[in-house]
Amino acid sequence: SSDEEGGEEYLFKIVIIGDSAVGKSNLLSRYARNEFNLHSKATIGVEFQTQSMEIDGKEVKAQIWDTAGQERFRAVTSAYYRGAVGALVVYDISRRTTFESVGRWLDELKTHSDTTVARMLVGNKCDLENIRDVSVEEGKSLAEAEGLFFMETSALDSTNVKKAFEIVIREIYNNVS
Ligand code: GDP
Ligand code: MG
Repeated sequence: SSDEEGGEEYLFKIVIIGDSAVGKSNLLSRYARNEFNLHSKATIGVEFQTQSMEIDGKEVKAQIWDTAGQERFRAVTSAYYRGAVGALVVYDISRRTTFESVGRWLDELKTHSDTTVARMLVGNKCDLENIRDVSVEEGKSLAEAEGLFFMETSALDSTNVKKAFEIVIREIYNNVS
């Protein structure tokens, strides 16, 4: 609304949650900077990154938050969730335990949000087909049961990464406009 042409501005907070090492930080770096890190350490020192896209001729900015490794200690704080209108809930298709944790992450998200949150269930590391431990069908049916969007992604080879974020951003936009 500070736009000189009198148009509206949109800034949406999106959080990425899920167990440690499922690829949250790499999904963000792939989307925001087109980078992938094979040996990424838990913290890169940035709380969030901002990425813009255009919808209906308007600039829509997504401020996407990364946990910086707090999830290892089950200590993702309420400040992390505060004001979030979108969420990517990520598991690793090659590690079933991370899929089994999804329910807990959804509960935590619900506990901390006071508004409608556009949610996408993300089965990451789909490049690891040879050691797949969770089927596409299982991912899909969990997403359907919980009312989430669903996508399998690979931060490594870029499959569906942009798509996953953009679907969430469009859904948020549709919710507010
Ligand atoms: P986070 O703890 O959820 O933030 O996970 P990271 O982004 O730090 O990734 C954990 C490990 O998984 C790192 O060694 C990454 O290189 C690797 N990784 C992340 N995404 C992918 C992916 O899509 N495919 C494969 N094969 N490895 C990935
Ligand atoms: Mg991380």
